[in-house]
Amino acid sequence: MAEPIIELDHVVKEFRAKGARTSTRAVDDVSLSIDKGDIFGIIGYSGAGKSTLVRMINALERPTSGTVRVLGQDITSLGESSLRPLRQKIGMIFQQFNLFSTKTVAQNVAYPLVLDHWRKDYLERRVNLLLRFVGLADQADKYPSQLSGGQKQRVGIARALATNPEIILADEATSALDPETTGEVLDLLKQVNQVLGVTIVLITHQMNVVQQIANHVAVMSDGRVVERGDAYSLFASPEQEVTKRFIATAISGLPDAERVVDIHRQWAGRIVTVLIRQKEARNELNGSWVSASGQNISELISKYAIPTNLVYGGIDTVAGSAIGAMTYELAGDAALVEDFLGELALNSDVFDFGTRQAPVEYGEAVLRPMPRKAGTVSAAADGDGRSAGQTDEDHDGGETR
Ligand code: ADP
Repeated sequence: MAEPIIELDHVVKEFRAKGARTSTRAVDDVSLSIDKGDIFGIIGYSGAGKSTLVRMINALERPTSGTVRVLGQDITSLGESSLRPLRQKIGMIFQQFNLFSTKTVAQNVAYPLVLDHWRKDYLERRVNLLLRFVGLADQADKYPSQLSGGQKQRVGIARALATNPEIILADEATSALDPETTGEVLDLLKQVNQVLGVTIVLITHQMNVVQQIANHVAVMSDGRVVERGDAYSLFASPEQEVTKRFIATAISGLPDAERVVDIHRQWAGRIVTVLIRQKEARNELNGSWVSASGQNISELISKYAIPTNLVYGGIDTVAGSAIGAMTYELAGDAALVEDFLGELALNSDVFDFGTRQAPVEYGEAVLRPMPRKAGTVSAAADGDGRSAGQTDEDHDGGETR
């Protein structure tokens, strides 16, 4: 059963510079619920309001209006002394690690426990345990300057875990790291979530970070949450322009216009791109469903026995399910190709780029996928009803969470 651990209700945060007449609205009427055990990604461009939003979760900032509930407690008007025990339940990690350069790794990790007056032997045991968990047991006496970026963030994570928090807020925690180290740190955060059961709120401007570990995502733009959903659905059926732009940076497989020209140059046959969606997805914003796509393509290729070449493609995994696109050259008998495409388009989103001799304009092909209508095996040939490529009628409610 989903149990909310962080709830924001119509939260607004305005900043007014001293003496200024106008104010900046950094967070604009945000309502969000984050469940216990989630890895919740908040993605947006710089200045979207992500940091301000997250700083309201541990009351480093107070909302101008609206309420923030954390661990079942309304923290909006709590005084500093009442916030102290709550803040121990919330760890934070940062882009620049925020380690003390004059303290060793062990002393950095111990710092929150020293503040909390832990007995020396308990403290040492806890620090050793944490350093083992993050894979730095042999670096305890080093100083931050002797560590790599990834190791520094591991220290940051160990320190954030020191007081046994229930929530970790990660503010651009991997933005200063190279892709490989980013992957390692994200794997560690996944462990923190899965082994220790810690809820993680991850703010980032990197879609691939969200793609790698988040199960839920909210997209922020100009202080507002413009789109949200489970990670798979957001990747599979983005509605907002800003979401689409972010996704384009993370999902591979769809050829751009130039690439299609290139493919036509190399291959004479019919060029089609099939979107791959392993399962259906629901857009939370408008409640619409998009169905799975491309799941029976191999089966149909053998059934029709048409010569095919796989000429471009890519598949990524989001929240454990595949998303991507595959582009084929289809050769051989034109009528057979037409029938094959007609059947393929019954259950898949297909972009038809035509042939070298008769290419279809890129925008036309991508904006108007082949129609998905029952009983229209030759629909593509008739040009019948070339409108939406997606229907919601075949949703059976089976697989989404
Ligand atoms: P993000 O984390 O998405 O980059 P921020 O939350 O840092 O966005 O900032 C959102 C907006 O609020 C920006 O316009 C920023 O300049 C403004 N802002 C953030 N903090 C303050 C502050 N302490 N005083 C004034 N303006 C601020």
